[in-house]
Amino acid sequence: MSKVTIVGSGNWGSVAAKLIASNTLRLSNFDDEVRMWVFEETLPGGEKLSEVINKTNENVKYLPGIKLGKNVVAVPDLENAVKDADMLVFVSPHQFMEGICKLVAGKIKASAEGISLIKGMEVKKEGPCMISTLISNRLGINCSVLMGANIANEVHDVEGVELCGTLKNIVAIGAGLVDGLEMGNNTKAAIMRLGLKEMIAFSKLLFPSVKDSTFFESCGVADLITTCMGGRNRKVAEAYAKNGGKRSFDELEAEMLKGQKLQGVLTAKEVYEVLSDRGWTEKFPLFSAVNLISQGLLPPSAIVQHADNNSR
Ligand code: NAD
Ligand code: 13P
Repeated sequence: MSKVTIVGSGNWGSVAAKLIASNTLRLSNFDDEVRMWVFEETLPGGEKLSEVINKTNENVKYLPGIKLGKNVVAVPDLENAVKDADMLVFVSPHQFMEGICKLVAGKIKASAEGISLIKGMEVKKEGPCMISTLISNRLGINCSVLMGANIANEVHDVEGVELCGTLKNIVAIGAGLVDGLEMGNNTKAAIMRLGLKEMIAFSKLLFPSVKDSTFFESCGVADLITTCMGGRNRKVAEAYAKNGGKRSFDELEAEMLKGQKLQGVLTAKEVYEVLSDRGWTEKFPLFSAVNLISQGLLPPSAIVQHADNNSR
């Protein structure tokens, strides 16, 4: 019987654990128990998060008010969590995956299969490193990706799917800035439209094989819309603009998200390094503006000038 381990236990990781655990109960070829690795932390009352999850069956910090299923077992020791797994579901903020892979390498079954729900990638000057590739290379296992409502295998475009999930986080910051500036829905729509164009153009410059059609799947335009309407990148960017850029993204993230993580600021910075290195900043005014604003080098209002000048 196949055993499943979830590597990550934040907001989405906990949702994934709940859904997977309900499926393992009804599927006879899966072990009922689902292990969920918890990056251990001590809660304000002094208790360990993993102990509280196992006692209450609820991730009280990252998904309060939702029962995970009694077959979800929180495991704070990463090696112990992954060692017997036949299926590893990776769902951590992307910035922690390098460290997680180092700890997991050599500690898993050679036959294990990976699936990544992670939206984000490392975008370095020497080229982007997709998280599914990082996992495959470091752990020596296959790794599929699942984002929006699409399994990558169904659209045959792993790079496109991961790029959608990564780059939409930059656009969501742009949308949040416009919300904070109270510029209205027309301007926000212009940002989303320009953002989608830049997502497609950037992806195709890096991976010419990426398909246009991927951007019109759920993992593309639908995810872009939902994240620009209700996501965390949007929410913190809105507050950043409302404060006139006087309080940093780091400060607002810590205060507003209470341990949950933003990914768009880091991605915007990495993407900007690639754009500068290759002389492409003028081709990507929105991506560039989001980075310069989130680093405090331009005022929040600069986002509107870029949308106005470039949305035709
Ligand atoms: P989150 O932002 O809610 O929580 C942050 C997590 O990171 C916590 O589990 C925390 O314990 C952990 N953490 C903190 N410091 C760490 C460290 N040094 N090393 C390892 N872990 C550390 O996380 P999330 O929302 O579950 O996001 C995970 C992935 O899922 C991301 O790639 C995100 O893009 C993707 N995703 C999120 C949503 C959503 O709505 N939340 C939806 C789809 C996809
Ligand atoms: P945020 O991190 O901006 O909330 O986005 C979550 C997400 O990926 C929704 O699809």
